[in-house]
Amino acid sequence: MKNIYGLTLDDMEKYFLDIGSKKFHALQLFSWLYEKRIENYEQITDIKKEVLEKIRNDYSIDRLKIVDIQEDVDVCKYLFELFDGEHIEAVLMRHDYGNSVCISSQVGCNMGCKFCESGRRKKVRNLETYEMVLQLLMIEELLNERISHVVVMGIGEPFDNYDNLIKFFKIINHPKGLAIGARHITVSTCGVVPKILEFSEFPLQINLAISLHAPNNEIRNKIMPINKAYPLDVLIPAIKKYLEKTNRRVTFEYILLDGINDSEQCALELAKLVSNINCYINLIPYNETNNLDFKRTKTIQIMRFYDILKKNNINVTIRREFGGKISAACGQLRSKKEEL
Ligand code: SAH
Repeated sequence: MKNIYGLTLDDMEKYFLDIGSKKFHALQLFSWLYEKRIENYEQITDIKKEVLEKIRNDYSIDRLKIVDIQEDVDVCKYLFELFDGEHIEAVLMRHDYGNSVCISSQVGCNMGCKFCESGRRKKVRNLETYEMVLQLLMIEELLNERISHVVVMGIGEPFDNYDNLIKFFKIINHPKGLAIGARHITVSTCGVVPKILEFSEFPLQINLAISLHAPNNEIRNKIMPINKAYPLDVLIPAIKKYLEKTNRRVTFEYILLDGINDSEQCALELAKLVSNINCYINLIPYNETNNLDFKRTKTIQIMRFYDILKKNNINVTIRREFGGKISAACGQLRSKKEEL
């Protein structure tokens, strides 16, 4: 059965018209779901019984199950169980500017990045829109606090689930939905070029992050299979087009992997690669996982890498680390739960 949390306001308006009811009920229902946070349709007082009965038969209002919570300083990780028994994770990070939640977009992932725990396991399926919305809604309810920022950087490749992702953005951004400002939402992709171009047409000003992780095709091919489909000489021009269209800035994520992509030569090459792109680089200390052989770059080398970029006038930050103790890296909690 379909779930009500997967409908945008437009979808709801269309639904009410289709069943011969009134369009304005959509806004009322939206408000019951996202402002008053009802848990069953009986709580609704301003829509006729017969219409409610119809909705009840067409759309479930059930929430997911949270089956594990792990807490560390300023971070909390939630393991969700979906209706078909699959598991996904979301992570809450407390910043001085607000609460940020990192959500999953698929069960597993087909991109196969060599260093990533999610990529080690194949994609089982895409998440439905409601499964993305409910990750946020349920964490907000548990905390009884507002979530101000969202990053789509959990399990999965969001641009491999594009249509559901776009609906999710429309719902969480809507003032009567979760009202999360577009500029407070970030989506991260490993570089699915056709979707980057399509996303440049999407009217909301959502931030785009690209998982770059290498300064040239030789290294990128070794760690990210997507690079064989969309090598840097295709990816970089696509990003430039996106920037032209949107007038925005893009973030490059760069995980530092010991002996793989962290030499001084790599830093120089990286500086050159992005020199005429409006961007900033987020250096990510690798979160080692038991199942994979990659090692984290030593802090002193991370600093050297950072300095070289700075000297070359690149905007660069080193990602603050959360949750080392609680297996917070992409896909780790799910793997633990399922012992794979
Ligand atoms: N598929 C998307 C979003 C999910 S991964 C993407 O590739 O961008 C989110 C980010 O976490 C990516 O930059 C990914 O490369 C990174 N990541 C994966 N495993 C990691 C680990 N063990 N330590 C640090 N970052 C990791």
